[in-house]
Parts: sequence; structure tokens; C-alpha cells
Amino acid sequence: MKSRKLVYEGKAKVLYEGPEPGTLVQYFKDDATAFDGKKKAILEGKGVLNNRISEYLMTQLTQIGVPNHFLRRLNMREQLIREVEIIPLEVVVRNVAAGSLSTRLGLEEGTALPRSIIEFYLKDDKLKDPMVTEEHITAFGWAGPQELDDMTALAIRINDFLSGLFLGVGIRLIDFKVEFGRLWEGELMRIILADEISPDSMRLWDLRTNEKMDKDRFRRDLGGVTEAYSEVAKRLGILTELANTERKGPVLVK
Ligand code: UDP
Repeated sequence: MKSRKLVYEGKAKVLYEGPEPGTLVQYFKDDATAFDGKKKAILEGKGVLNNRISEYLMTQLTQIGVPNHFLRRLNMREQLIREVEIIPLEVVVRNVAAGSLSTRLGLEEGTALPRSIIEFYLKDDKLKDPMVTEEHITAFGWAGPQELDDMTALAIRINDFLSGLFLGVGIRLIDFKVEFGRLWEGELMRIILADEISPDSMRLWDLRTNEKMDKDRFRRDLGGVTEAYSEVAKRLGILTELANTERKGPVLVK
């Protein structure tokens, strides 16, 4: 195997130096973690599925004009991405109460929210990713006011688009997390979507049965994690089987 320079190793992904300046190779591992890394497992095939699902969703988002770091998929587990300076925030968009929102506010999981809600969390493992307000973000300089506006506007567009996309294949987008980065083009800097969008970072429920098709299957020991991710990929028309690279397009659920 070619030796390449490791840039960053996270819980589920590894970043290597890319072939050209300003690019990185993003490698998707099979590792699953939850509860601030306290729960761990290797889920065979998860990395392959997340690579494909994230590729598909990022490509669709490019088509509607949501700028993002994805350049092209290199192989089963790797994609070429633009190098950005990651903004140390997790931007969560919620449509339906679940997870930490349900716990914090005592809302029954599955309760539709009066409108989509955006939350920010500071990316800091030692502090367990605390929720922060826009006041904190601008006061401590994690992002500027214009950057916050840009991230919020992009998060809303991503939510509207993905909600519709998933609804079309019989899946409810409950909530998701995205990360953004700064991309410099000469003197100009713009905010683009980075990281990944996959069932590791979204809550997806089957429209008819409410069955969970996301990482909650791992967090809550429900089993069938990669099977659920695979079903998401199938419904999106990404894979009919793992080895098949032919793309057939989304499968409309009537
Ligand atoms: N999420 C994520 N990474 C995190 C925390 C949350 O991808 O470090 C995603 C999670 O999968 C869900 C959404 O963000 O789709 C909202 O998560 P929540 O705040 O409910 O936290 P959780 O219950 O997952 O701890």
C-alpha cells in the first residue's frame, strides 16, 4: 500500500494528504462510537456505505447550489475532498423531537416540532460537545456573525432539500448534524459544507413503520445497523448490491 501522510484521525474517518495542494483524501472506517466514545464497535461495511451515501448526498447538494468539499469518490472507502479550515461547531437541524432534545425538554420522541430548529454545539470532546448559543460563538470567535448567517442559511437549504429527497423514498428526516469549513480562493473566503452526511449523522425513520434506519440502531442496541444503512442506500438508488457501482437513481415510494 502507498504510504501517505496522515493529516487527522477521527472516530469514524481518517484524513490523508491529497494528490494536489488543497485536497485531502477522506477515508471512511468501519468504527462506530457513541456516548462520547464510551461505546465502540466495528460494523463491517459501514464505511463503504457511508462513503457512498455521503457522496450521493453531497453530489445532489452541489446540483442545487450548496457548496461543499466533495470532489470525487476514489474507491470503496475513500473520497477526494477540498481541504478547508473546519469551523469547530456541529450544526444540528431538527424537524421532529428525538435524542438530546427530547431528553432536555421532556418532549416525546416523534413529536413534530412547530418549525425546524437549528442548534449549535462546540466541537470539543473533552467538554463533551456542549451546546452553545450564537452569543457564545461570536463572543469567543469560533465563527463571525456573517459566517453564522451563512451556516444557518445553508443548513436550512440542506434541510429543505434532504427532507424532500428522503420523503420521496419513504423516509422521514428527523434531524441531522453538519459541519462547515472555510475555503479560501485568493483573497476571498467562503463557507462550504464539509465532513459527511450519512446515517451516522442523521436520524432517519421509515415513513410507514417509524423504524429507525440510522445510528440510533447502534446507540440503542437495536441490531441490524449496516442492514439499515444498506436499505437507505438502496432506497436512494445508490446500490443494488455493494459491488455494483452502477447508479440507478432514487426509488420513488408511492
Ligand atoms: N449528531 C452527530 N454527532 C454528534 C452529535 C449528534 O452526528 O456528535 C447527530 C445525531 O446523529 C442526530 C443529531 O445530530 O442526528 C442530533 O443529535 P442529538 O443532539 O439528539 O444527540 P444524541 O441523542 O445523538 O446524543
